[in-house]
Amino acid sequence: MTVFEKILFNVQKPSRYTGGELNSVVKNKEDISLRFAFCFPDVYEVGMSHLGMKIIYSLLNSRPDVWCERAFCPYEDMEEEMKKAGLPLYGLESRDSLSYFDILGFTLQTELSYTNILHMLRLSNIPLKSTDRNEDYPLIIAGGPCAYNPEPLYSFFDLFVLGEGEEVLLELADLVILSKREGWTKDKLLKEAAQIGGIYVPKFYEVDYNEDGTIKNRRVTQEGIPAVVQKRVVKDLNTMFYPESFIVPFGEIIHDRIMLEVFRGCIRGCRFCQAGNIYRPIREKSPEVLNEQAKKLISSSGYDEISLTSLSTSDYTKLEPLTDTLLDWCEQDMISLSLPSLRVDNFSTELMERAQKVRKTGLTFAPEAGTQRMRDIVNKNVTEEQLMHTCRIAFSGGWHTIKLYFMIGLPHETMEDVEGIASLAERVIDNYFEGIRLGEYRKGARGIKVTVSVSSFVPKPFTPFQWAAQDTMELLEEKQQELRSSIKNKHISLSWHERKISFLEAVFARGDRRLADVIETAYENGAKFDNWDEHLKFDVWMDALKIHGLSPEFYANRKRPYEEILPWSFIDIGVTEKHLRLEAERAEEVITTPDCRTNCRGCGANRLCGGFCDAKN
Ligand code: SF4
Ligand code: SF4
Repeated sequence: MTVFEKILFNVQKPSRYTGGELNSVVKNKEDISLRFAFCFPDVYEVGMSHLGMKIIYSLLNSRPDVWCERAFCPYEDMEEEMKKAGLPLYGLESRDSLSYFDILGFTLQTELSYTNILHMLRLSNIPLKSTDRNEDYPLIIAGGPCAYNPEPLYSFFDLFVLGEGEEVLLELADLVILSKREGWTKDKLLKEAAQIGGIYVPKFYEVDYNEDGTIKNRRVTQEGIPAVVQKRVVKDLNTMFYPESFIVPFGEIIHDRIMLEVFRGCIRGCRFCQAGNIYRPIREKSPEVLNEQAKKLISSSGYDEISLTSLSTSDYTKLEPLTDTLLDWCEQDMISLSLPSLRVDNFSTELMERAQKVRKTGLTFAPEAGTQRMRDIVNKNVTEEQLMHTCRIAFSGGWHTIKLYFMIGLPHETMEDVEGIASLAERVIDNYFEGIRLGEYRKGARGIKVTVSVSSFVPKPFTPFQWAAQDTMELLEEKQQELRSSIKNKHISLSWHERKISFLEAVFARGDRRLADVIETAYENGAKFDNWDEHLKFDVWMDALKIHGLSPEFYANRKRPYEEILPWSFIDIGVTEKHLRLEAERAEEVITTPDCRTNCRGCGANRLCGGFCDAKN
């Protein structure tokens, strides 16, 4: 028995660490010009549910000269065993140390995974700082939603990929292969990489600060380096690469099913939502292409569920033809369809019936706010009548478990808006009992259950609320207490997102370069797995900020003037700052903006696709 096999006996969930799953890719090292590790800074089950990883893994492995493997953050028990055995962190497919790879590509899904990145580097015996790594070490790169403000991580990464990775990663792979062949220095490689659209190399920029801590200016330090980096988008999703197989894990993961991505972007303009802005413009796939992709994925993986994935699946214009085509063969083969990301305002009996055909799970909707005034401020164009109508459809279809997502601490919120969450949930319950009294629907065997799930608002870059202050933790606590005491109905249960996590997210989401040292200090002092409530070491973070003379309130609770240079303002996501500001002003005036299909608001995103946007054309 090898050392590796022995240590698997001492850890929970050994299947997290073995590799060898169906459809994982093993190549002959002799035939490979570039070794890439897709690194997910959380445990296997979380990372394996991530669609972006599945796409990039298959895309890179579709090239005969590239081998892409996976790496996850080992949980505490495995970390301990690896340390005892002197094993470094490795790629799951080859079990080779990550330090042997050419590129380690991390995905940045949440700000509180940053210490796990440092942890994975340390476990691979790779220096944390880019300046401490020479040509012998892999190129350390990152992409994903949090890369839209890469500055708090500037010293750890060699480069960031902004936008969709399908094209740019192949261009980068070519460049790294060329640099290996020609023996370039790391500096030369990075200079060349900075010429690729969508690549940001932080070492070629400097930032000066004013005495009050705000940014004074940003400078390019080398000739030929772009001052503004524009995100990358794939213009045509129908011809874009999509995997023909997904890895099938041995153990359970969070989303264990086929994920069929139906479109990118979102036609809504919720003012708190970063995804709704950074993934624009809207681009749909055709039902024919999706049907073919679904068939291939089912036959290669054996899954029995297909999830139609996007930011807002019920907004897909060809949902009916798509579900018709899919149901034609899925029903016969006992494959269920799930439709996540449904909206309150376009949920229909028909849609429900389609989703219900094979499996009936709980329904989730996100009214986001309890009062119409607040929903108008955040531009969640949903009315109470629509929510009640949707609930009636769901109750009559036999659903008795409904989850409602809300946020507290939104800009311009009052205590009445907070109490409005409780009264809205109460009215959903009243609606149910009223329908039963009138004989419109039958009582559920377990009665009715409404779960109110409440998170605290985190202002994010590239949203109309990017200039807003987050509520202080004291005020958030007051609001949580108010909500708790307003809910009296036994059919309603309340769940919270830890507000300390939201506070830290707000610090790092809009942070600048000075926070890099804070992340390193917090890591050295024991912070990791910070977005797991049970692991969060809040005091370690507060101490690290203090050590570096920085105030978390400066980042989280400060309203920025429109004129301030924001740490991410050198990035062009297509959507213009003018558009975001206009939306922020409309929020203040409690004016809603219709969705993109009703009226293109000229956000600017279509310029990245030669003027094309599926919601506009
Ligand atoms: S519907 Fe709103 S919250 Fe959902 S993705 Fe679109 S903009 Fe974001
Ligand atoms: S270009 Fe127009 S339709 Fe397209 S996302 Fe922007 S505002 Fe919406």
